[in-house]
Amino acid sequence: MNRIVGSSSSISKQAQIVNPFRIGSNFLRPTRKLKFERPLVALQSDDWGRVGICDRQGWDRLRATGINLGTHPYDFYSLETADDVTALREMLKKHRDSIRRSPCLVMNFITANIDFEKATIPCREIPLRPLSADLPGSWSRPGLFESLRAGIADGVFYPALHGLTHFCSRSVLGLEQREAKAELLQKLWEAETPYIYSRMPWIGYENYTSDGRFLPGHDQMAAIKRAADNFQEAFGFRAFSACAPGYRANCDTHASWARSGFRVAQNGPGHPLLPHFDKHEILHVYRVIDFEPSHSAIDLDRLLRVASECFRRGAPLIISIHSINFHSTLKDFRTPTLQMLNVFLSALERRHPDLLYVHDRDLYDIATSGTYRTTEGTYAVATEYAHNVWLKPAGAH
Ligand SMILES: [Zn+2]
Repeated sequence: MNRIVGSSSSISKQAQIVNPFRIGSNFLRPTRKLKFERPLVALQSDDWGRVGICDRQGWDRLRATGINLGTHPYDFYSLETADDVTALREMLKKHRDSIRRSPCLVMNFITANIDFEKATIPCREIPLRPLSADLPGSWSRPGLFESLRAGIADGVFYPALHGLTHFCSRSVLGLEQREAKAELLQKLWEAETPYIYSRMPWIGYENYTSDGRFLPGHDQMAAIKRAADNFQEAFGFRAFSACAPGYRANCDTHASWARSGFRVAQNGPGHPLLPHFDKHEILHVYRVIDFEPSHSAIDLDRLLRVASECFRRGAPLIISIHSINFHSTLKDFRTPTLQMLNVFLSALERRHPDLLYVHDRDLYDIATSGTYRTTEGTYAVATEYAHNVWLKPAGAH
């Protein structure tokens, strides 16, 4: 049964302000930024599926080589467990928005890990194990994928793409054997840790070298295609939304995403808040709040003020929260994060009784049709363009 949010009077109001997405036979493409009448809340989270320090034995092994761990939160980055994922799923399921839907975490996955048993430096190609295969070396996470699938089935997790490796492979392929960088990386790989970014920013981000250059478009395309195929193998469907590692994406990245079927680009905070389409017909959305209890104390009052201002402007409140905040094997980040997130979501629900929890696909559907679907039905969200300017897209007649 299809349902429409709001009373009949508010529906007629929506009819006035929802822009027609088709006028006659012409599909009109907006050239301005999108505003939403209802408070929309999305959660976006990076780095799922990427291994870090291999639990206590990996930590001890690295310490034995003289690496002084424990000075940076990412020294405690390991990998989520089935219990971490289940605890998160249970917390999200307790929350409800104004249509009784639970919040949904967009989980951005790295879809391959280094195959440490085969990896050496120098190398011509970095051996990788796709996410759909077993974890590499002695890494073990019993039940992890089952826990993820349970959350997806419950509608509280929405998997999306982060990348293939997270780091820039070109930074590694260029290393010489006796270089200090190579020796550090070799130590890490022997302890089944791919890298620790805070100690080696020279490793760069997937599309971006540490000296500030984007990889050529064909290199980006190859990695994105491989990452997207790995994603499909792991989850059984194509990814729809993507967030570039380190938020480093350029026009080549967006073109490659579009060619691989992506329709939503996630962008980091500090940009314009309102979503918009680019020339590839990709919807760009922007994170508003960094919610990272593993890194710093959470000021709930400030975040609630930011949320109210965001809704006032008609922007979706997109909360960024990295996977490390749910890790527990090297340090219990999970317990305080779930407590804080639980409190924050409850406060948002109380202050904004008409709020709607959405994920990236919902935002795209609302932006293109004015409606989105849940398991309960189809809902309308009034949408308008900031400057109300419309153009025909190239090729439209
Ligand atoms: Zn990341």
